[in-house]
Amino acid sequence: MFDILVSKDLSEMSEEELDSSFIVHEDGVKNFLGRIPLGCIYATFLAGLYIEMEKIVGRAAKGLILNASKNRGKIAGNAIRRRYEKKFGKMDEEKARMIAKNMITIWGKCFGWGKIKCECGDSFRVIVKDSLEAIGFIKLKEKPSHPVCWMLLGYTWGLLEGLFAKKFRGEEIKCQATGDDACEFVFQTVE
Ligand SMILES: [Zn+2]
Repeated sequence: MFDILVSKDLSEMSEEELDSSFIVHEDGVKNFLGRIPLGCIYATFLAGLYIEMEKIVGRAAKGLILNASKNRGKIAGNAIRRRYEKKFGKMDEEKARMIAKNMITIWGKCFGWGKIKCECGDSFRVIVKDSLEAIGFIKLKEKPSHPVCWMLLGYTWGLLEGLFAKKFRGEEIKCQATGDDACEFVFQTVE
């Protein structure tokens, strides 16, 4: 499973193909890569959680979710890079970019985090239609004044830092929850 993740571009694979390639169903538990347990949650639960957190800690809610997500994403990115390098040698930037795109494809098509597209140029741009976080706010008929996809922002940001072993700057510049057509995230390396 790991070899498929790191050996080819998966963006054209269907949901079914990705699911059968990466998720093992065992005794009612879904395990990603055969060992990382997954579960579905309600989009409205996630949005509700952020709304409740903001009531208690105010604007610090974003920092809490963003930092936790970024740290976890970085752990995942580092783990993939270490596992890759142990088996195949040094990971170059082209490979790191492909694996990042593959992980994002899996989040979209297997995990239900949204319909996600990546554009890799000078910056790493991620465009998401119906992001799990934004759609939760929309379903709750809440229209926040600021972008709210903190988990996806943080997790992608951390994943990139772990895979590239570099510092990035990241921002959600458009968010469907605030009325934009889709969410858009931009990540750039920090010199
Ligand atoms: Zn968003």
